[in-house]
Order: sequence, then C-alpha cells, then structure tokens
Amino acid sequence: VKEDGKNHFQFYTPGMNEAQSRKIRLEIGLRRGLKNGEFTVYYQPQFNIHSDELVGVEALLRWEHPEFGNISPAEFIPLAEESGLIVPLGEWVLYEACRQNKAWQEAGYPFIRVAVNVSSRQFQQTSLVEAIRRTLEETGLDPQYLELELTESIIQDSKHAISMMNNLKAMGVHLSIDDFGTGYSSLSYLKLFPIDSLKIDRSFTSNIFADTKDMALVSTIIAMAHNLELKVIAEGVETQEQLQFLQQGLCNEAQGYLFSRPISPEEIAVIFDDKAAV
Ligand code: C2E
Ligand code: CA
Ligand code: CA
Ligand code: CA
Repeated sequence: VKEDGKNHFQFYTPGMNEAQSRKIRLEIGLRRGLKNGEFTVYYQPQFNIHSDELVGVEALLRWEHPEFGNISPAEFIPLAEESGLIVPLGEWVLYEACRQNKAWQEAGYPFIRVAVNVSSRQFQQTSLVEAIRRTLEETGLDPQYLELELTESIIQDSKHAISMMNNLKAMGVHLSIDDFGTGYSSLSYLKLFPIDSLKIDRSFTSNIFADTKDMALVSTIIAMAHNLELKVIAEGVETQEQLQFLQQGLCNEAQGYLFSRPISPEEIAVIFDDKAAV
C-alpha cells in the first residue's frame, strides 16, 4: 500500500473516475427523480420591449438531487438525451407547463404564452405530435398559448422536420427557433419551416457592446427576421444598454437577468399582481 495517496490516485486519474461516477449516478437518478418528484419547472418572463407587457414565460427544468443538490439542466439534459429519458421527462415538462399556464388563466391573470424546450431527440419521434395534442386536451390550454422552442439541430432530417412542424402548426401551436445562429446551419431552412419567431442566442446578446461584429449580427438577425415576417426575441439580456440597443433595432421581445431570472410559479403570480397594481 502506498503511503502517498496522491501518487496512488494519480495513476488512476481520480478526476476522471469521479466525473464518471457522478455521470453514472446522475443517469441512474434521472428515472428515480422523475418518479419521486425531484424535478420542478421554473419560468423566466419574456417581455414586449416596446409596451413592457409580460407576453410569455420560458419553462426551464430544475432538478433537486437528493445527494448532489441542485443540478443544472446544462448537465443533466445531455444525459437524459443519451439515455432516451428526455422523452418522458420532456412530456412531463410539457404537461406541467401547460397545466400551469391554464391555472394562471383560470386565476384571472392576463393570457400569456408558455414556451417549452423540445430536444431534437424528442422531435425525432413522430409520437411527439400526439403527445402534444393529448396534453393540450387534458390541460384545456388553448394551443395558441403554447410555444415550442426548437434548435437548429432538428434540421438534420429536414423532411421529417417540415412534416412535424406542419402538423404542429395545424394544431395552432407556436414554433420558434432557439439559440438562433449557433447551429452552423444554412439559412435556406427559414423559408421552408413554418416558424413564428427566432430567438437570438445569448452569446450574441451579451457581446453586443464587446464586439462590433456581434452588434452587426444582432441588427442583421432582427432585420432579416422582420423581412421574413418572423417575430424576434433576444435572450440573455443583462444590461440597460443592451435593452436600449434592442429597442432601437426594433427587436420585439426580450428575456434575461435584467428583467428576471427563472422563478417559481408563485413568483410569476407576484409579477402579474404587480403589473395589475400599476
Ligand atoms: P436555453 O433554452 O438557451 O435557456 C436559456 C438559459 O439561459 C437558461 O439556463 C436561463 O436560466 C439562462 N439565462 C436566461 N437569461 C440569462 C441571462 O441574462 N444571463 C445568463 N448568464 N443566463 C441567462 P438553464 O435554465 O440553466 O438551462 C440551460 C439549458 O438547458 C437551456 O438553454 C436548455 O437548452 C436546456 N433546458 C432547460 N430546460 C429544458 C427542458 O425542459 N427541456 C429541454 N429539452 N431542455 C431544457
Ligand atoms: Ca430555450
Ligand atoms: Ca436559448
Ligand atoms: Ca442559449
């Protein structure tokens, strides 16, 4: 037995083993977590930046792991995608978000959209359309108050993507392209896909005043979206200066820490109450 534990472990690359064991435990934990109610949905407000109206919220998953504590979706979503658990997990988020939005409506609050992230793995499955139809029926939410956020990665199979989107549009659901501009994809899909809006990725928004090229890209994305009759929303807005730039550029909507972090449904109700009190 070596006295120097450090040398001993160096040989077995402890960092790697720990990361691997965490990964495996998280992967196993996903299924249990879904069953045991360890997941919750937070909502990040989206505002019309010309009228200041609350127009929507984005549903974002949170996982309170019994052993590791709060885990970021950036870490567990890829694991859920690998294992396929993203399908039941995604259906759960969808149901929860629609149910919550309907509950706000029934409480008498102004009607807003709820945006739900759909991973490309979910989108590959034709059964997604039926799952969405069933969810809308069961929760009673009018389809126009549901928006699906799709990333450019769904374009891998554009025939399938177009037929899925057409089915969803026929139902009355809104479609947006998330993280727009980060997917290395061709722009020609914009004329083929029946989408309603583009979401400018945070990597562009946060760099507006740090890099003149990002500033040019943001202006160009907004202009292009308008020419294509698409709505534009900027994500990751953190400063007043960024907001002013987006307002002058006639971006339609924004979300980001400047307005609010993702918050609980109860905290969203407080925003509704505050707005009503003005
Ligand atoms: P996303 O869809 O791009 O979501 C935006 C992320 O940016 C969220 O991180 C949000 O909290 C964060 N964010 C919002 N405003 C700001 C800001 O002003 N500054 C900064 N620094 N960050 C901001 P979050 O909640 O950790 O989610 C990370 C990613 O995980 C999401 O990125 C999305 O890709 C994925 N995700 C979250 N929930 C779901 C889900 O239910 N289904 C699927 N498929 N993916 C999800
Ligand atoms: Ca998103
Ligand atoms: Ca995004
Ligand atoms: Ca993003």
